[in-house]
Amino acid sequence: MKVAKFGGSSLASSNQLQKVIDIIRGDSKRRAVVVSAPGKRFADDRKVTDLLIDYANVVLKKANPVAIQHAILARYQEIATGFNLPAREFQPIHDHIMQLPDHDYPSADYLLDAFKAAGEDNNAKLIAAILNHLGMPSHYLSPREAGLLVSATPGDAQVLPESYAQLAAFKKSKTLLIIPGFFGYTKDGQICTFSRGGSDITGAIFARAFKAELYENFTDVDAIYAANPNIVAHPAAIEHLTFREMRELSYAGFSVFHDEALIPAIEGGVSVRVKNTNHPLKPGTLISARKIYDPKRPISGIASDTGFLGIYIRKYLMNKQVGFVFKVLQILAEYGISFEHIPSGIDDITIVIRERELTPELEPKVIKAIKEAIHPDDIRVIHHYALVMIVGEGIQDHIGMMAKATNSIAQAGVSIVTLDHGASPVSIMFGVREKDEYNAVRGLYKAFFNTETA
Ligand code: ASP
Repeated sequence: MKVAKFGGSSLASSNQLQKVIDIIRGDSKRRAVVVSAPGKRFADDRKVTDLLIDYANVVLKKANPVAIQHAILARYQEIATGFNLPAREFQPIHDHIMQLPDHDYPSADYLLDAFKAAGEDNNAKLIAAILNHLGMPSHYLSPREAGLLVSATPGDAQVLPESYAQLAAFKKSKTLLIIPGFFGYTKDGQICTFSRGGSDITGAIFARAFKAELYENFTDVDAIYAANPNIVAHPAAIEHLTFREMRELSYAGFSVFHDEALIPAIEGGVSVRVKNTNHPLKPGTLISARKIYDPKRPISGIASDTGFLGIYIRKYLMNKQVGFVFKVLQILAEYGISFEHIPSGIDDITIVIRERELTPELEPKVIKAIKEAIHPDDIRVIHHYALVMIVGEGIQDHIGMMAKATNSIAQAGVSIVTLDHGASPVSIMFGVREKDEYNAVRGLYKAFFNTETA
């Protein structure tokens, strides 16, 4: 069997849902369907999840929610009307949205999660009702009925391992399963959502539990591209990626597939295929454990992301001091700051951190604490720093990859601030100034994909 997940833009209107229904009908192995909330129909549109966040905030402020309730219901109603769904079938969706403020929630965070989850929950109910109305027997499988248990961490839930055995029981279902993505239940029975875009995670969890032969992830692009199309015009489509390559790429800006969704897929050994609901015959991109090697393409993709800073620390004979890095990291831990990676030299290290972690209020305190602990010869914070990465299993087997990369960045007129080949054999990471990000990516793309870019 296959698990198919459809993202918000695939379910944004009755027209889009018709395409989804055709895709489900097109392959009898698609027995479990995970759905997002209705997404954007056009560029300036709003996702139902964002409308629900507004709704939660209106309720928390004790303001009048009527306008936002109507805006949300109108999205579902348009889809129901497109399929002539009888009014009585729509009633439970109406009631769920209207009654969200009437429940007791342990805190504002749990309230927010219950509101957000209502986006996928009602879409799954609606889609199951529409499919039954069209004569396709379907069962709305709520995460509560399924036993999808998650940690009590609102907005950032993690699946609890005991869920898998409970979910597996539903593999035998004779009826098509329609499952809402994005949330599960805590052991206390509270709704908790995954991080944003988390319906991908639900799909991967069910694919693992059902030992699916494939997890199909339907979205609105024909493939995962070798570079960001906003930076490089018409980048090459990637036919195949390993899990490791996808993990590295999604770390730095590749957002087509949620990086946390890779974990259940890897654990269960389930391959993932990213496909376009609007062009379902196109092959899309396959993500799997084994490399399908193309000697002409040692690099699979080029990723980049901004919003980093580096704490540069230099101390003569650093290499001889025991516990030097430990002391610095302990200070970061005390302030609750997570770091990204640490390129190092003999006498110096740079600790790369997301700017949002080391806020302007924390920065002087942290620097003072580090100075007191290790008395560095030099310590500086380099702001507005971007990471640019080349990713590919071929990096380990090809000579001259680093030379080619640094050369192309130099030719693009960009100076490299940090360089990290680290322990990962599948990526090389360059730190550059934020203003140089696009030029560095374009230079690398030209060198590795041998194409002129716009
Ligand atoms: N609807 C949720 C979001 O917008 C989850 C998802 O679509 O995957 O983040």
